[in-house]
Amino acid sequence: MIYADIIIDISSDKLDRSFQYCVPAHLEQEIKLGMVVSIPFGNSNQLRKGYVTGLSQEAKVDPSILKEIAGCCSAEETTESRLIALAAWMKENYGSTMIQALKTVLPIKEKIRAKEKRYLSLSISEEKAAEILAQLEKTRFKARTRLLRELLQEKRLDYTTASRELGVAASVVKKLEEQGILHIEYDEVQRNSLNTGDIQKEEPLPLTTEQESAVQCILEEWKSAQPRPVLLEGVTGSGKTQVYMKLIEETLNRGEQAIVLIPEIALTYQTVRRFYARFGEKVSVINSRQSQGERYDQFKRARKGEVQVMVGPRSALFTPFSRLGLIVIDEEHEPSYKSENSPRYHARETAVKRAELEHARVVLGSATPSLEAYSRAVSDEYVLVKLKARYGERPMPKVSIVDLREELKAGNRSILSRELWEGIERRLESREQIMLFLNRRGYAGFVSCRSCGHVMKCPHCDVSLSEHNNGRLICHYCGYETKKPQVCPECGSPYIGGFKAGTQQIEKVVQDTFPGVRTLRMDFDTTRNKGSYEKILASFAAHEADVLIGTQMIVKGHDFPDVTLVGVIAADLSLNADDYRCGERTFQLLCQAVGRCGRGKKPGEAVIQTYHPDHYSIQAAAVQDYEAFYEEEMSYRELMDYPPAAHMMAVLGSCPEEELLIQAMHYLQLYINRIYKKKDLHVIGPAYASVGKVKDIYRQVIYLKHEDYGTLVRIRDQMEKYIEINSGFRKIYIQFDFS
Ligand code: ADP
Ligand code: ZN
Ligand code: ZN
Repeated sequence: MIYADIIIDISSDKLDRSFQYCVPAHLEQEIKLGMVVSIPFGNSNQLRKGYVTGLSQEAKVDPSILKEIAGCCSAEETTESRLIALAAWMKENYGSTMIQALKTVLPIKEKIRAKEKRYLSLSISEEKAAEILAQLEKTRFKARTRLLRELLQEKRLDYTTASRELGVAASVVKKLEEQGILHIEYDEVQRNSLNTGDIQKEEPLPLTTEQESAVQCILEEWKSAQPRPVLLEGVTGSGKTQVYMKLIEETLNRGEQAIVLIPEIALTYQTVRRFYARFGEKVSVINSRQSQGERYDQFKRARKGEVQVMVGPRSALFTPFSRLGLIVIDEEHEPSYKSENSPRYHARETAVKRAELEHARVVLGSATPSLEAYSRAVSDEYVLVKLKARYGERPMPKVSIVDLREELKAGNRSILSRELWEGIERRLESREQIMLFLNRRGYAGFVSCRSCGHVMKCPHCDVSLSEHNNGRLICHYCGYETKKPQVCPECGSPYIGGFKAGTQQIEKVVQDTFPGVRTLRMDFDTTRNKGSYEKILASFAAHEADVLIGTQMIVKGHDFPDVTLVGVIAADLSLNADDYRCGERTFQLLCQAVGRCGRGKKPGEAVIQTYHPDHYSIQAAAVQDYEAFYEEEMSYRELMDYPPAAHMMAVLGSCPEEELLIQAMHYLQLYINRIYKKKDLHVIGPAYASVGKVKDIYRQVIYLKHEDYGTLVRIRDQMEKYIEINSGFRKIYIQFDFS
């Protein structure tokens, strides 16, 4: 006998209420996940429609009390049923509960209207407000003063931010409202969050010969019965967006819809503007700052056919278009396409699956493709299409690599090498602009030698060891530990230690070195407030500063035609991060950084400072040679059995009680060894996760490596059962993460 889980209501937050039914023998062949079925419901046994969300051989209760499905409505394949089928695949493939998967693909309508975004605005003129402020400042009404001062500056304040950051109580707001000084707005404009009303429609630009032949090549693939995903490898500035837009147009002409995924950080007004200018009101945008409710509204418009192109981050992938024709993933290599919550899906793979379920097509674009995508292109699973030239024949910048060991030898202890120093000086004289880039990434607590460049690495995993407070160096894959050496084990130099340069520190050095220089800093700290990211970029674009200093954030987004020098302060910061992807990530970041300069008429120059001038990631990035990088990186992955050469599953355990966690993870490891005895499985750990403790919750991880994805999935299924029936795991939160 087969049993089916069925949900009846998908429009509200009742997704977790599924009911089990028996599948009658004559429907056993036909029934599948996501299908619409009719079922007798409630005491009256009235027939209702529901969706199949799970199938199993086991009944959860005494089977004799389960009712039978009345019939399948196979003609009614709805958008929802296809998304439910996708959720089922995500649950299987990534490991999560069906409810978590459903909640990911079906946005939940927010019931509470009160959660709507509220804003505070002045009700009086600015002059009047300034007058009142002057009076208030003499009184003891501190909160009112703060609020009014902020309002005068910002004009419009997010209510929640105001109350949290300014410490203004609701009663204070009420008081000022009563006095007619301010009013509360319930934002409707926010729903269309980017003010797009005044964007003029633009005619499509004629494509270059290379762009045109890329489009033709892709359209040719689309003629086949089962078009493969396309990987569009195009150098920065080659016009990938032009190609996407042509393909979207083609899709709309066929009466189908398109989804365009963009990494969150690149989702700026500028990017979105280009799509509006081309497709006008057919476009809608979602971003992660919108509330669930706002996203729901956008999705509703998409379902009703009011929009045909959805632009957004990862979650836009689940836009309920009824005739989805195309999914574009721009910058497909970006880590933000991987979800950090269960199900820990990757947008690339999930897009390919959704396209398969709905007969749609996928185009992935990048200047520096992920190893995953490129290796699939190499094996012909994907089609590779290239754009080799920058638009307008802008030359690639001249890149030099500076060996920081030589700087030390020459007596220069500053974080600016002599070459970078001279470069900055020259630009300041000629009033050109400079970007200084700190490619810090994730947790980089590595220890290295400033004399010879030697980095302390795990002898088993070939990744950098991380320094901990207790002075020990730890590997986050296998748990290997060693004492931090006093002198370099390679050359005996005492200059061994952590590398701790921050953006703030660099800004200070620049200001001290070049008196009068105007700097802007962009990092996590300076971009916490809404709109501050755009503000900094706009200010730099308007030449209000000579030097922009920042993290990853500065290498995406705007074009700055007057930037002629990009300095990478320490390429080692990402190169020695504690995971196996650090070489890939470094290559990508450096390529992007280099591609930032020389976008205008003046040619650009880039200086990369490093202790590892010979590393292939740096060498290849300097000449923008993706293939050379790929060859080297792939052989490292093969040697160490890292993805995509093998599959890897992380079992993440977290728990507030450390002892309990250690014990549980130990038992899990023993269990894995018991159920899978063959030598082809590598079990590594348990070890403390990269960030071993978050908000007093301890985190440990076990890694499993195997050639076959299915084997890992089966092991995971068994582990899930083991965890479920063992009371020892009750206080431990376990998650699975595939890479
Ligand atoms: P990529 O996404 O590959 O980095 P873009 O699509 O952003 O490249 O294009 C880079 C720049 O070149 C943009 O300013 C764009 O307007 C311009 N450009 C690209 N292709 C064309 C074209 N066919 N006609 C006119 N301008 C183009
Ligand atoms: Zn050394
Ligand atoms: Zn190790």
